Amino acid sequence: MNETPTRSDFDQYMAPTYAPQQVIPTRGEGSRLWDQAGKEYIDFAGGIAVNALGHCHPALVDALQSQGNTLWHLSNVYTNEPALRLAKCLVESTFADKAFFCSSGGEANEAALKLARRYAHDHYGAYKDKIISFQQSFHGRTLFTVSVGGQPKYSQGFGPIPGGILHAEFNDLDSVRKLVGDDTCAIIVEPMQGEGGIVPATPDFLHGVRQLCDDNRALLIFDEVQTGVGRTGSLYAYMEYGITPDILTSAKSLGGGFPVGAMLATDEVMASLTAGTHGSTYGGNALASAVALAAVEFIDTPDVLAGVKKRHDLFREHLESINRRYGVFQQVRGMGLLIGAPMAPDYAERAKDILPLAIDEGLMALVAGPNVLRMAPSLVIPEADIEEGMARLDRAIARFVAQA
Ligand SMILES: *Cc1c(COP(=O)(O)O)cnc(C)c1O
Repeated sequence: MNETPTRSDFDQYMAPTYAPQQVIPTRGEGSRLWDQAGKEYIDFAGGIAVNALGHCHPALVDALQSQGNTLWHLSNVYTNEPALRLAKCLVESTFADKAFFCSSGGEANEAALKLARRYAHDHYGAYKDKIISFQQSFHGRTLFTVSVGGQPKYSQGFGPIPGGILHAEFNDLDSVRKLVGDDTCAIIVEPMQGEGGIVPATPDFLHGVRQLCDDNRALLIFDEVQTGVGRTGSLYAYMEYGITPDILTSAKSLGGGFPVGAMLATDEVMASLTAGTHGSTYGGNALASAVALAAVEFIDTPDVLAGVKKRHDLFREHLESINRRYGVFQQVRGMGLLIGAPMAPDYAERAKDILPLAIDEGLMALVAGPNVLRMAPSLVIPEADIEEGMARLDRAIARFVAQA
């Protein structure tokens, strides 16, 4: 039983829901990781936009250790100090008046969608039940959230799926106008599509969606699970756009690697979640809340947020310089430290083939769909690690082009 686990144990013992890379990282510090063989990697993946402060950041380790020696869990039969502190912090830093806690992004969206339905039911009646979302969007893996998401491959074969869900075209206001009406209870949108390929919403589009919600007494839900907590260079992306949603969901970077999710809303809207209407055993768990509070307090400072924008420019310059040499990308896009590079037509749908070459060179990166190379590193990644990581990416791309 004390044998060191191997990658083949994955195939033998774990559900085949994933196809992980061959190496198994065992230790991380800042933006560097080491695998079982002691090989070192630069981390541009950040656990898919989760490790917002890199690996084992002292502020988060301190919060985890001191809470770990104090109190882990109580259930919601009692409240606890870390959850109360985190709720107050999020309310004071955003448009919201109230927070609901859970353990993941999918659960935060499930809560948001249920709240939107319930609010419409309470205020207007059961007829107002239509939810509008967008093609290519991603909102989680529960049956409700895969049905709302705009990638049919995630809900196919799991039917019957929940009804009352309509899909419009992202960044196309006319397509929303065609679907919206008095029976719309909510529009849910990612300010920048993440899994869908790192596609920022245009400001006009988001302003238009806000207006359509107001005109039709529908709630606007921003899914900021991937864009939230400093990722775009503001605490939340809605602040970049100057457009305020009625409900906002947050997870990923919120816990910096500890599983936690939050659904934020105004008093008026959250009032529909009366005692007993919704819940979660782990929601507001003391350990999760203590770590999340430390993450938000560390990230929501002018220094860290300005650092995200500065690092964005560095990533963009390096990727554009690599592209001038190899011509593999159509463009470099994104906001803050959520960056995507869609492949040029000659290399269409082949972004995934870069990943093992990068790993071989000592770099971890991501894709967003088959055609987009994605990067979501630590918000405080040192400049030296960006330089070294880009040198490794350059070598990986040279090999990718040579073998193409
Ligand atoms: C990752 C993600 C989710 C799902 O979060 P989980 O924690 O995996 O449930 C939902 N929405 C967006 C925009 C995401 O990027």
